[in-house]
Amino acid sequence: MVKDLYPCIIGGEKVFSSDGRSFKDINPANTGDVLAEFPMLAREDVARAITAAREAQAKWASTPVPERGRILVRAAQIMENELEELTRILTREEGKTLTESRTEVSRAVSIFRFYGVMGYRLRGEFTVSAEPNTHLFTMREPLGVISIITPWNFPIAIPSWKMAPALICGNTVVFKPASYTPLIGYKIVEALHAAGLPPGVVNFVTGSGASLGAEMIGSREVDAISFTGSLEVGEEIKRMAGTRNLRIQLELGGKNPAVVLDDADLGRAVEMVVRGAFGLTGQACTATSRAIVLDSVADEFTGKLVERVKRIKVGNGLAEGVEMGPVVGEKEMNKILDYIRVGVEEGAKLILGGGRLSGPEHSTGYFVEPTIFTDVTPDMRIAQEEIFGPVLAIMRATSFDEAIELANKIEYGLSASLFTRSLPRAFEFINRVQAGVVKINKPTTGLEPHVPFGGYKKSSYGMIREQGEAALDFYTKIKTVYLGY
Ligand code: NAP
Ligand code: MG
Repeated sequence: MVKDLYPCIIGGEKVFSSDGRSFKDINPANTGDVLAEFPMLAREDVARAITAAREAQAKWASTPVPERGRILVRAAQIMENELEELTRILTREEGKTLTESRTEVSRAVSIFRFYGVMGYRLRGEFTVSAEPNTHLFTMREPLGVISIITPWNFPIAIPSWKMAPALICGNTVVFKPASYTPLIGYKIVEALHAAGLPPGVVNFVTGSGASLGAEMIGSREVDAISFTGSLEVGEEIKRMAGTRNLRIQLELGGKNPAVVLDDADLGRAVEMVVRGAFGLTGQACTATSRAIVLDSVADEFTGKLVERVKRIKVGNGLAEGVEMGPVVGEKEMNKILDYIRVGVEEGAKLILGGGRLSGPEHSTGYFVEPTIFTDVTPDMRIAQEEIFGPVLAIMRATSFDEAIELANKIEYGLSASLFTRSLPRAFEFINRVQAGVVKINKPTTGLEPHVPFGGYKKSSYGMIREQGEAALDFYTKIKTVYLGY
């Protein structure tokens, strides 16, 4: 057996693939650093995980909600005690800087606490009845078995914000992490079990998304699927679900704008656009990928931005002072470099970066230079398609109206920022921009766990938001009771 071969967890048991296959989990900053191996499960193995979830569900649903909550709160505490270890695992596994990893792990801790406390707040409505001697109320019931499929870019926060509300509502889970980042996902499941989660309530499966996904979506035993990932896979999931009565939540891509007006604090706008565009190496669904700047301040903004971005230290996230880590893998790196070539061919002006970083510090991993284009027009592919890397397109607008029009002229609608000192313009933007998250004088990235999150247009499918109390609506069904006496 390979050293550091981790198991999957099905019905509380450690499970390996029936044919012994596994895959490597490597550090994208240093591809010689292998963190672990995980089983390449087959579709049949996943069917067993779904059965285990089904078998555990009734008992879990009848566990008093505060007791379910206590387990979530204990898991939060365990993860908080392991904050530094989890932070290092996340940086080695995904590549983000230690500061970024620590923020993400802390967010997962907050998410488990928030839904843990919901153990005392999960409730329906009580209302008056039009009929005499009647109690009229609603109650929430769990859906049953939930399939959870998550991406690599927030590999602890996203599984947490799906699993915690699913569990507090009394559902059981089959969870498949992205194949780039199984270890941090395993750590959540380990914390939950250490906190007292009964066997079978969360089942952890690893392997190819396409083959496991077919079972996780196709099985008649699954009641809902919550997926975060690419638009393409999201479309595939919709097709697979077909006309079945399966509750589906898909959180997909973004092409998020930051609009900079002529009355903005430009220094602040530059800092926030840098954070939104190059933080997390641009690999956030809420990353700023377009800066839409009013003509009169565009030169000054661009000059300041370039000066700041030149100072970004790119390197292994484990190293002191590094501000931007590698991209997650070779395929993703090549896709980003292809988009940069497309941008040049389309006639955008490449004013910074544009290549892979080589040299002693960078030759061991997938490092892409922070890249800035100007003269980007709305019809260009780099203005329309999600690149998911450290590439920013600067576009000019002649008026506030045109800026809003440009901001909205995309298929996505996840998050959007505005930089201004004018309250009326802020409100006009809030009202007119087509995005599920709006930020004023703040970066497009960065979310708090206790408020809803989701996108407009192609960024989300399923309408019911994630996070906050809104998530409870996805993970429960509502029963209306007319009680006469
Ligand atoms: P991805 O390729 O779509 O993969 C996401 C997950 O789906 C992974 O676990 C993957 O497994 C699995 N998968 C792959 N093919 C599948 C199939 N045919 N059926 C079922 N599952 C399948 O996305 P990614 O590259 O990991 O993540 C980047 C994308 O996620 C970006 O587009 C980004 O915008 C989006 N994202 C959105 C949000 C949001 O909340 N809106 C947040 C973060 C990221 P394998 O890893 O084994 O392939
Ligand atoms: Mg990895």
